[in-house]
Amino acid sequence: MKAAILGATGLVGQRFVQLLNDHEWFEITTLTGSERSAGVEYGDAVNWRMDTELKRKIAELTIQPTDPRQVDADVVFSALPAEQAREVEEEFAKQGFAVVSNASAHRMDPDVPLMNPEANYTHLSLIDEQRQKRKWDGAIVTNPNCTTAVLTLSLKPIAARFGLRNVVISSMQAASGAGYPGVASLDIIDNVIPFINNEEEKVQTETQKILGNPGRPAEFNVSASCHRVAVIDGHTEAVFVQTEKPASPDEIIHCMEEFTAEPQKLKLPTAPERPIVLKVQQDRPQPRFDRDEGHGMAVVVGRVRSDPVFSGVKYVVLGHNTIRGAAGCAILIAESMKSQGYL
Ligand code: NAP
Repeated sequence: MKAAILGATGLVGQRFVQLLNDHEWFEITTLTGSERSAGVEYGDAVNWRMDTELKRKIAELTIQPTDPRQVDADVVFSALPAEQAREVEEEFAKQGFAVVSNASAHRMDPDVPLMNPEANYTHLSLIDEQRQKRKWDGAIVTNPNCTTAVLTLSLKPIAARFGLRNVVISSMQAASGAGYPGVASLDIIDNVIPFINNEEEKVQTETQKILGNPGRPAEFNVSASCHRVAVIDGHTEAVFVQTEKPASPDEIIHCMEEFTAEPQKLKLPTAPERPIVLKVQQDRPQPRFDRDEGHGMAVVVGRVRSDPVFSGVKYVVLGHNTIRGAAGCAILIAESMKSQGYL
């Protein structure tokens, strides 16, 4: 199938290019950018920050304006800033394109699926409602904010087995989460920044939407405190959970270790074999050692222990923010759409 990437020069756009390079189902046919780079060859416009080589075939593609009339594709991956995404993605859906978006613009629209495929594979059915309501043949499907993607994957087996009452999360988020060039080096080196605009609200509401039913968010409480740290890739999160039914740390470890979902059963190309990898060492997970687990699509959990305040459990989870938290998740969503007949 033909794939387009909107905002292909940014950090998430580049990650799409990297991950789609040798994809079994999708082939990159169109790359778009802003006025700054439209008309220029991708290799000349992009400041390539990935650790694999940019293929010549892709480097020679001319960047197109972000306009549906310039795009020839079966699926459109959007890595646009939220301000541009709202209107542009609607325009693409109106023209019949299936858009899988990383931007926050449409995530909380009730008729737009907000997908983390292992956590809510069935929410794609909202596309039917969306098409009927908005009278378009295309679709907009979104992936979560990067912190939420990592959190909800780790919470899913706990929610399914024990139910959730309260979740508190404190994040240590990588610099690449702010795009490129992102946070100024003089702000982040030797420092922690205890504020990321709108991030805590996103984590709270998106988590409830993903772990609820289609059209009906879950009712457990979520409280987030988000912080930017001097790490390049990989968001680390300290999570404190009060479950509905009592759960010991061993039971939580067991349900996480045995967790798999539809993407694993269907052997979708981007699905990691084990979505949640448990570490027994006391000082893991760590971004430098663990962010590439499952090719960046798995989350790594460690330090599962009792929480005396909640009479529940607490743990640390780590995930790659531009793979599981962005481009990788979006590609897995597109694979899920194809396997459910939406592409
Ligand atoms: P970025 O590095 O700043 O890249 C932004 C991209 O959007 C560039 O390709 C840029 O193209 C393009 N763009 C900017 N203004 C445009 C316009 N008016 N029309 C068309 N294209 C325009 O940002 P990023 O980190 O890749 O993030 C992209 C999106 O994914 C954002 O919505 C972000 O919130 C979301 N997201 C990011 C992460 C992460 O970890 N970084 C995780 C999850 C979600 P030019 O280079 O041509 O100007």
